[in-house]
Amino acid sequence: MLRLVSVLLLAIVCLFGQQFAFARPGQVTVITNVEVFDSTGAASWQGSVLIRDGRIIEAGPKVKAPRGAKVIKGNGRALLPGFYDVHTHWGPRATPSALPDVAANYLASGVTTVLDFHQPPEAFQPRREWLGQIPSPHVNLVARMSTPGGHGADWSDETTTKWVSTEESAQRAVQELLPYKPDYIKVFSDGWRYGASPEETSMNEETLTALVEEAHANDIRILTHTVTSARGALAARAGVDIIAHSLQDRALREDEVADILASGMSYAPTLAIYEPRRPGAPELDMESASVRMRVWKYGIAEENLRTLFEAGVPVALGTDAGIGGLVHGDASLREIELFVEAGLSPADALIAATVNSARALGLSEDRGTIEVGKRADIVLIEGKPWENIGDVRNISLVLVDGVTVFDAANPPKPLPSILPARPAASLIDDFERADGRTAIDTLPVTDLDFGMERSVITFTRRPRQAGDHVLSVTARMARKEKPMAGVLFPLSRGSVIPADVTAYEGVSTDLFGAGDYTLRILSLKGMWEAKVSAGDGWISFKIPFTDFAFTGNADPAPAWTGDDLLQIGVLINREAGETAWFEIDNIGFYAAE
Ligand SMILES: [Zn+2]
Repeated sequence: MLRLVSVLLLAIVCLFGQQFAFARPGQVTVITNVEVFDSTGAASWQGSVLIRDGRIIEAGPKVKAPRGAKVIKGNGRALLPGFYDVHTHWGPRATPSALPDVAANYLASGVTTVLDFHQPPEAFQPRREWLGQIPSPHVNLVARMSTPGGHGADWSDETTTKWVSTEESAQRAVQELLPYKPDYIKVFSDGWRYGASPEETSMNEETLTALVEEAHANDIRILTHTVTSARGALAARAGVDIIAHSLQDRALREDEVADILASGMSYAPTLAIYEPRRPGAPELDMESASVRMRVWKYGIAEENLRTLFEAGVPVALGTDAGIGGLVHGDASLREIELFVEAGLSPADALIAATVNSARALGLSEDRGTIEVGKRADIVLIEGKPWENIGDVRNISLVLVDGVTVFDAANPPKPLPSILPARPAASLIDDFERADGRTAIDTLPVTDLDFGMERSVITFTRRPRQAGDHVLSVTARMARKEKPMAGVLFPLSRGSVIPADVTAYEGVSTDLFGAGDYTLRILSLKGMWEAKVSAGDGWISFKIPFTDFAFTGNADPAPAWTGDDLLQIGVLINREAGETAWFEIDNIGFYAAE
């Protein structure tokens, strides 16, 4: 039955993919009778817009539609360039998120270009392929860099966020990312935790400067997680392209504003993530010191936004959606409203949300305004948001590349939130590949511990006997209550496409090294674990799936289906501060005899 559902989902995705992909070449679309806010700085004007092959080919008061053109009646609605969000997280970690849902949320909010800061580079290619099959905004995948002990390096391993602290390591880390074709790089360069928790490490200026230079030499722009005024000026001196948060520890000094202005950098203050009281939330408890601190910092964030805006620093739109309960798409519209609350005019807020964001991303030749030659990423809105900003909520029609991807009068049906599973290979890794990848071409991860105190794990392939290699793992367990260490093997590249193991009976592996271990299976439903003990010689284990227990909090626990696996791996169970070692070979799945 489940197989049948998978086949059905595949059929739906393919069908939809086809319909979506075919904006017939040469097809002309005209949007008539609209009031156009074109984001060029001109006053709004009435007329029509003509689109062919995903581009605007004519725009003005007297556009004549050729015969056979598809007509979209504007009926006096407002027409604007699609919105941007340069700071989002399509989480959660280690599982493909409900990607089609997130994409649909952005489209329903008129957001047509997005940056996703949450994916390991291994996941870029499969996610790009998936996004190409469904209605979606343009999603730019952003590689992550931090510094040892830095923010952003406090979860997952270096397959997700690289850690650099010297000029040379920064240059090499950028080089290592190039094969994945990152659209941008985000650098977690500021370790200040808002005064609410202990400060993490900040990246030094030399390393940040070298990183930016190497990225720019390869045509990649840099955004930084920067939240303090001094480090905002430092980022400017280092050549960073966009600050993707608010500077909020104190008001900017004049020399800092001058540095930021002179650098040409853009400022995306992500007010939505800092707003002390979100719409509909309960009244703030001003008796609480932490609440008063948050309100105070938000005041600084608004003040610094006004200061930079008035000085002429371009403001761009980012939100941090996906973090802290911020809803994708809705947060982007909230950010536009918060710009106005902070003192920008509605027109300036819309400019920030469109052309300024496109310019910050280096995309303004291609999109961001309603002008001839530009990509037809377009939003139709009831009302006049350049006069009344609340009207941005009245999204009625959205086009990406000239194709209708959202129509409020005819809302799209939700798409399946996962990709169809593929049958798993029986051998995941025999550790024979010299390039460090598994037998199924995935990259092992040590994505286990959280926080600033982390277990340190290294692993290497070494000979077991002539012509046979094993994975040798060494761990120094973190000095904390429940340290975690081990190695996980993704069952598809970037753990995006689930694996189906229903043809098998369980997990098989060889282990060497006296001690207790946990075999872990990560599925879309959560984690399943089984305990084993190894000894001072090689032991071949065959652990049936029925021996694995669900470890999450879900009550009742989900049933094992075996058709949605993302990773398998081995965890080492040792005390805090201990050093441990084990070896592993031939991990995979075995079938019933
Ligand atoms: Zn973020």
